[in-house]
Amino acid sequence: MTPQPDALSLALQNRIRQDVQSMHAYAVQDSTGMVKLDAMENPHRLPAHLQAELGKRLGALALNRYPDGRVNDLRRALAAYAGMPEGFELMLGNGSDELISLLALACQVPGAGVLAPVPGFVMYAMSAQLQGLAFIGVPLTADFELDEVAMLAAIAEHRPSIVYLAYPNNPTANLWDDAVIEKIIDAVGAQGGLVVMDEAYQPFSSKSYIDRIARHSHVLLMRTLSKFGLAGVRLGYMMGPKALIAEFDKVRPPYNISVLNCEAALFALEHQPVFAAQAADLVQQRERLMTALRAMPGLQVWNSDANMILVRVLDADANAQASAPGAGGDAAGRVFERLKAGGVLIKNISKMHPLLANCLRLTVGTADENTQLLAILEKSL
Ligand SMILES: *Cc1c(COP(=O)(O)O)cnc(C)c1O
Repeated sequence: MTPQPDALSLALQNRIRQDVQSMHAYAVQDSTGMVKLDAMENPHRLPAHLQAELGKRLGALALNRYPDGRVNDLRRALAAYAGMPEGFELMLGNGSDELISLLALACQVPGAGVLAPVPGFVMYAMSAQLQGLAFIGVPLTADFELDEVAMLAAIAEHRPSIVYLAYPNNPTANLWDDAVIEKIIDAVGAQGGLVVMDEAYQPFSSKSYIDRIARHSHVLLMRTLSKFGLAGVRLGYMMGPKALIAEFDKVRPPYNISVLNCEAALFALEHQPVFAAQAADLVQQRERLMTALRAMPGLQVWNSDANMILVRVLDADANAQASAPGAGGDAAGRVFERLKAGGVLIKNISKMHPLLANCLRLTVGTADENTQLLAILEKSL
């Protein structure tokens, strides 16, 4: 038989989508031995006695069986936890990332588009592009507020199938103006589109859309247990009117929630006070960080309703800064490297979007971690 040394490269070239070939895989920074303040993880773990108790529960599960009706217990527990209104339904995803992908999959009709303010969560654009939907990114204002005029104009022009509003937003950490949100929701509804309120940061936020969701029949509310304290478990959920959720549930892979994920999430919900105390600590730490950061010359700090803080490193050349943020060079990159050399890993988002020039995103850590962050930051500016 003639050898086929080129079979692999032929397959790679000809059988893999061109757009996939030119993509970059989602990069996870190496964080071995570092203080990890880059991914909005809850830095707290379960107390030792609960770890042992959970271990026993997980060990006793029938891993030889496919997941069964136990996921319905989890759906009910999450609905109760969230205060889901009557007539609504809840579906589970392997992280809310999976739900975002499933929404794009189900909405893939010719000409369909997904619209979201930018800078925003990268998965909205990525899931749309992978599914062949147009992505329309509408820039926020320079202060990261919704640009009402631009949003309404883009909705009228593009008639998107889905509009994502992260409440609060990632990476800017702020909540947007409620009156503007309502206008956007009404405009999307008027042209037959859907709005997804993404409340990934709900445990740290002063507000939730859950109280208003029953007013609309075209609004979905998405949450995740990742920032709550279970990033490793991978559990997202989405609530909406029954008829809508029923359609999205059809494209969900069967058994997408493993018995381990399901049981760990149920266990966490049975111990809500533990997680609530962790969230309260992080909110307190956020306020402490905010005060300290605001006192540092050379930093611009934005309000946060999440477990992250967006800052801009102001260039030494204040005039260059005023005329064009970041025009004076890679000040944020230098601070990022100094923090890294000092053992603190944060996220350098300065190249993510022009509005984020010289911006860094800091995840709120434990009291000790934040002390380390502040000490190195002070020396780095
Ligand atoms: C982190 C994050 C998510 C994704 O969470 P997973 O459930 O871990 O997939 C969704 N939306 C926003 C805005 C996020 O920041």
